[in-house]
Amino acid sequence: PRPQAVALGPLICDVVTQNKEPARRAGIQLRFVETGLIVRADPGLLAVMLQNLVSNAVKYAPKAKVLVGCRRRGKTISIVVIDNGIGIAAEHQPHLFDEFYRVQHLGRNVEGMGLGLAIVHRMARLIGIGVELRSSLGRGTCVTLTGVPVTDLPAPPTTISTASQSLLHGMQVLL
Ligand code: ATP
Ligand code: MG
Repeated sequence: PRPQAVALGPLICDVVTQNKEPARRAGIQLRFVETGLIVRADPGLLAVMLQNLVSNAVKYAPKAKVLVGCRRRGKTISIVVIDNGIGIAAEHQPHLFDEFYRVQHLGRNVEGMGLGLAIVHRMARLIGIGVELRSSLGRGTCVTLTGVPVTDLPAPPTTISTASQSLLHGMQVLL
């Protein structure tokens, strides 16, 4: 990992933009809360982790709402990806970070390798942050990346796509 100062808002925005089209096809409202926070992290790894979480929410939460947000707790922040989709039964939850573990959701056949959450879990350990999953069958799922360190250092200017910029424009600044 190569930790550096990263502007979180544009990074989340890029991930959301990448998932906008699949979300639209699935009838999902995909939102995020803009944040002016700068974190110290490897931007590539963080983006891969968020991409896995957001794409899961979009895949498994048809017609639902998906929200990406963050919360500051002192010198660290948590990033959450929440959906109000189909949820995951309690019996499966202890195994979700295992490689190739998948859940047979009743009446739904969604493609995947069962690797996304295992990758997120490994990367979290690699960069020293936490990952917590809470889910309730039929109600939704919430995955939180915890303990991402905030930094006061300025982030280098980010080059984000025009699509991201227009999405970013008009977003609510919460933190
Ligand atoms: P891959 O990510 O490799 O394409 P995958 O999505 O099946 O495949 P994971 O991302 O590791 O693999 O997820 C494991 C299982 O957890 C999924 O098969 C799915 O059943 C369940 N799951 C993950 N995220 C959600 C979610 N947001 N809502 C409901 N079920 C989920
Ligand atoms: Mg996945």
